[in-house]
Amino acid sequence: MINFNVPPYVEKAMDYIQECVKNQKICGDGAYTKKCSQWIEERTGTTKCLLTTSCTHATELAALLSDIQPGDEVIMPAYTFVSTADAFVLRGAVPVFVDIRPDTMNIDEKLIEAAVTEKTRAIVPVHYAGVACEMDTIMDIAGRHGLVVIEDAAQGIMASYKGKALGTFGNFGCFSFHETKNYSMGEGGALLIRDEKDVEEAEIIREKGTNRSKYYRGQIDKYTWINYGSSYLPSDMNAAYLYAQLEIADEINQARLALWNRYRENLLPLAEAGRIDLPVVPEGCVHNAHMFYIKARDIEERTAFINHMKQNEILSVFHYIPLHTAPAGQKFGRFHGEDRYTTRESERLARLPMYYGLKPEQVDEICEVVKRFFV
Ligand SMILES: *Cc1c(COP(=O)(O)O)cnc(C)c1O
Repeated sequence: MINFNVPPYVEKAMDYIQECVKNQKICGDGAYTKKCSQWIEERTGTTKCLLTTSCTHATELAALLSDIQPGDEVIMPAYTFVSTADAFVLRGAVPVFVDIRPDTMNIDEKLIEAAVTEKTRAIVPVHYAGVACEMDTIMDIAGRHGLVVIEDAAQGIMASYKGKALGTFGNFGCFSFHETKNYSMGEGGALLIRDEKDVEEAEIIREKGTNRSKYYRGQIDKYTWINYGSSYLPSDMNAAYLYAQLEIADEINQARLALWNRYRENLLPLAEAGRIDLPVVPEGCVHNAHMFYIKARDIEERTAFINHMKQNEILSVFHYIPLHTAPAGQKFGRFHGEDRYTTRESERLARLPMYYGLKPEQVDEICEVVKRFFV
């Protein structure tokens, strides 16, 4: 059986975790948390990175920092993970879903401005499969309407748009280090902060509303409760596991890209024959091979395809059920404009196995099974 995802195995992780245990330093904001956030700051060029317990929590933190209030509207695609909306719904805000582009499955930047109302406070672009949204257009709209931009870059680490790292365009960017992502700490994430002015408040909200971060740095001699907050710090053991991967991030990225390119080359004839569609990476976008997907004709063909793969011991899976069709999406949000592509394209999409450690020969084997279905 070829699994759909296997978390990366990096030998050094064991040494680093052991070090935490031996030194009896396992709580948050320890040595490995620092190493990870520094690495992210250096690689992305963001002003500040704070490690969090998940991308969901990073997005919640961004919503708190953006002072999102009940009744505020937040523009996002419906083709995304529930957390993109949850973080704002928790603040009483209304997710306003906008249709996606069929080529990248990202929010259609040309439809955003028409969805802006008096109540709109933020735009949340989701960089699907590590392929960037059209950030120039999105930042221009946000600038003209005074909106906050919070990038859901859960899948976007190591990817860029016009030479700039994903997660660094908006006021806030959110990474995920969940087990299913390119780099993992089991459960975890990071908040990227663009503007210096937001850093202190972010540190306070992340540390239960206290200025403990300043205390740890020796800037004050006791810490105190000064704002609302929560606890968004991961254990240093999880950070140790992640750091072992970050150290070889380029190697992991290159290996994934090689697999992705191999899939594409193998399956290009099927696409040229009009049997399937392949992912599109627009000019100016450098992706990170987070995902390789194909698109069948419709949901019936996709279901048959996934079953065919399963019969051949290969796990292929579909992805998001559009949020506006889910019970909570109908209760809390609304779709602006026409759903031309969100439902149709989501029903055609099937993801193929993709992980660090998958062998090139396995990709060839998978592609042979794919071809047998579509010929
Ligand atoms: C994985 C993912 C999340 C959630 O990440 P967690 O770290 O599990 O909270 C949010 N948005 C998108 C687009 C994701 O892919």
